[in-house]
Amino acid sequence: MNQQVLSKRLASVGEYVLENARLADIGSDHAYLPVALVLQGKINFAIAGEVVKGPFESAQKQVAKNGLQKNIQVRLADGLAAVEKTDQITAVTICGMGGSLIRDILAAGVQQEKLNGTERLILQPNIGENILRGWLKEHEYQIVAETILEENHKTYEIIVAEKSATAVSYSPAEILLGPFLSQEKNPVFVKKWQRELSNRQRILKQLKAATSATPEKIAQFQAEIELIKTALKNQ
Ligand code: SAM
Repeated sequence: MNQQVLSKRLASVGEYVLENARLADIGSDHAYLPVALVLQGKINFAIAGEVVKGPFESAQKQVAKNGLQKNIQVRLADGLAAVEKTDQITAVTICGMGGSLIRDILAAGVQQEKLNGTERLILQPNIGENILRGWLKEHEYQIVAETILEENHKTYEIIVAEKSATAVSYSPAEILLGPFLSQEKNPVFVKKWQRELSNRQRILKQLKAATSATPEKIAQFQAEIELIKTALKNQ
C-alpha cells in the first residue's frame, strides 16, 4: 500500500492538521496518520504515542519502514504522558476510541500539564461524542469544526476544538448532535440520527415496561428523543 494513502476517516482527520504542525497522535497503533502526513510533506515532526506494546511495535516498524525515525518518535506511554514540553506540540489527534476514553486521556493530560491550551485537538470518537463535547465545553474548548462521514458501513464523527479565551456554551441539542453537524444536516447525519431515533424509541418502550428502570433514565431517553425529532423535522 502507498503509505501516503489513508482511510477516508484518517484522511479527513489529517485535513484538520495544519501545515507544519507539531503533532502528537495518541493511540497511534500503526502510526498510519503521522507517517502519511510526513510523507505528504504536510508536517515534519510527530510523536506517535501508544500504551500497548503490540501496537507500539507496529508503529515503530511502520516508521522505520518509511525511514522516518528522524521525524516521528514512537513512545510507549499512557495517553498524553507521551508528550514532553520540549516537543512543542501544536496539534493532538486522538482517534478510533470511545468518547469517554478520549475524555479521560484529555482530563489526565490537563492534570499532568501536558496540554497548555495552544494545541488544536482533533478527535475522532467511535461512540460517546456527546460525552466528549460536554468535557470540551466544561474546559472552555470551542468546537471550531466537525465532520461526519461513512466508511465501510460505519459512521464516524470528527470534532476539532481549540481553547477559548472566554466561556463556551452549547445547548443540549448541540452537545448531543454537534453544533456544526446539526446545522449542516448532511445525508450521513440524517441517516445516523434516524437510526439513533428508532433505537432510542425501542429502548424507551423496554424501559417503560421494565420495573427496574428509574424515572431519570426514562426522562433522559424522552428528552433525547425530542431533541433528535426536532433536528430531523427541521431538515
Ligand atoms: N488511532 C488509530 C486509528 O484511529 O486508526 C488507532 C485506533 S485503535 C482502535 C486505538 C489505539 O489506542 C489502540 O492501539 C490502543 O492500544 C490505543 N490506546 C488506548 N488507550 C490508550 C491510552 N490511554 N494511551 C495511548 N494509547 C491508547
